[in-house]
Amino acid sequence: MTKISFYTLGCRLNQSETASIQNSFEANGYEVVGFDKPSDIVVINTCTVTENGDADTRRLVNKVNRLNPHARIALVGCQAQVQKEKLVLMPNVRWIVGNSRKMDLVSVFKENPDPCQAAVIAPVIEREPFTQPVASIDHQHTRANIKIQDGCDFFCSFCEIPYARGRARSRVFEDILQETRALAAAGHKEIILTGVNIGTYAYENKSLLDVIKILAAIDGLKRIRISSIEPTTIPVELLDYMGKGQLCRYLHIPLQSGSDEMLTEMRRKYTATEFSRFIQKAHQKVPQICIGTDVIVGFPGETDKYFEQTVDLIREGPIHYVHVFSYSPRHMAQSRLREDNVSLHVISKRSQILRELSARKRRIFYESLVGTVQAVLLEEARGNFWMGLTDNYVKIKIKAQGQLHNQILSVKLQRIEGQYLIGEL
Ligand code: SF4
Repeated sequence: MTKISFYTLGCRLNQSETASIQNSFEANGYEVVGFDKPSDIVVINTCTVTENGDADTRRLVNKVNRLNPHARIALVGCQAQVQKEKLVLMPNVRWIVGNSRKMDLVSVFKENPDPCQAAVIAPVIEREPFTQPVASIDHQHTRANIKIQDGCDFFCSFCEIPYARGRARSRVFEDILQETRALAAAGHKEIILTGVNIGTYAYENKSLLDVIKILAAIDGLKRIRISSIEPTTIPVELLDYMGKGQLCRYLHIPLQSGSDEMLTEMRRKYTATEFSRFIQKAHQKVPQICIGTDVIVGFPGETDKYFEQTVDLIREGPIHYVHVFSYSPRHMAQSRLREDNVSLHVISKRSQILRELSARKRRIFYESLVGTVQAVLLEEARGNFWMGLTDNYVKIKIKAQGQLHNQILSVKLQRIEGQYLIGEL
């Protein structure tokens, strides 16, 4: 039996895709082994959203060649779609498969069983609605990612995702339904809807909100979480629905910058004021909602003043944590042509300021929840403690014995300890 292992770089969407690809190999008679075990084929699902993602691929290929020198390597996904020429030179890489074919990797291997030189398979990505294999069930995890959408038509100037993943398209609704039912039947209590730009979901006459409402009726499914969603794509009705049924009180909305000048240069579709108004509205409508965001630090032309506007917006608004990304020019993104780059030293200083602000904002949010009772999905035991997550994305630690894995229990929150809120049943 051919042994195959997988490694996923990058986002939640890549994770969900790897789970589906893995399942299709199991169904076709391959033995899936851990990434650290000897295997005949190693599949790395790549990421190219930052320079770090590119560097991680190089690092992993070197590691595989060191630890598993006879393995043949397949590089699939975003970096494979846009940087074929570079990847082809890496040792032992036999397949480079872009997003256009990666979900069909079993067939790609059948068509190209043992190429002596790297086979490059990365045709143009279609715009049609898509289906994909049901993800393999992972009983270790209580929560499962479900891909509902792919690609993007927004073409922000710093981003090459529309080239790496193609134009916006939606997963056939019946396919989503089938996978969610399978995951719920296998015991998953929470699903996380993922995609590149999920707010643009449109299949036949169904929007994202329609999908959520229908999935909410599935037996056994207790929580539906939306992963990162673009600010201009969230209907107010979604806020009305949030927290009342299964939809988690949680939004991760990328801000990228709090300066209107930068937002225009980035070709984002909103002003700083519009973003602030929206998160205020979400905060008012959904009690105890957790709102997180992404910020790009050091976009070309970002002055101290523009950066301070970002800091002010985050400090003043109901934002509870920030993922900070250092700007790096991407191969196909429009902003790579700019020459007014911000120095690495300044980027690092500004990033540090935002990380500290993020830690303070998270702590303030946690403090506001002390004394409340929250429903916690318990995920992992460590010693005498169980760790879990609330629907509003707070990490909880409770002292408890016994088998509580995958149970949702009421917990009274008492105090903060590091990254956790400590509570009791
Ligand atoms: S919305 Fe902008 S940043 Fe997000 S994937 Fe589309 S182009 Fe990239």
